[in-house]
Amino acid sequence: MDHTPRALFALIMAGNKEAVLKSNTPWYCVSCYYCTVRCPQEIHITDVMYTLKRIALKEKVYDETAAPDFSKTFINWVENYGRSFELGLMSQHMLKHNPFGVFKVAEMGVGMVTKGRMAFAPKRIKNIDGLKAILTKAKELEVSA
Ligand code: SF4
Repeated sequence: MDHTPRALFALIMAGNKEAVLKSNTPWYCVSCYYCTVRCPQEIHITDVMYTLKRIALKEKVYDETAAPDFSKTFINWVENYGRSFELGLMSQHMLKHNPFGVFKVAEMGVGMVTKGRMAFAPKRIKNIDGLKAILTKAKELEVSA
């Protein structure tokens, strides 16, 4: 992320629309809701990240960097497994956009897997067909809106 969520909100407050919409921060947000549940001001930060992505797409002002592709890879995991798979997400992204960086993050990945902080293999949710039906319907509604 080129700005922390706090810095991004400072840019929003300062009215720096271009910097906000060109920031890669919303694209690297993986919707973990960590910031949202801890925010003392009860700001729905994760939802704001989604909104910023939608505005950036609509106004075609986001930087064509690796960040939007990260978001697509994340969505692809969620659509196929019902949840993110961090190891697969990072491996795919790094191999595509920064192959030499794989070695840098591999050590951290191994450490997280061995400490049980990250899964070694993806695990599909029980009712993946139900989720797929919901996502298909949501996409239909989005197209017709
Ligand atoms: S939802 Fe998670 S990834 Fe997104 S900004 Fe908050 S803490 Fe970061």
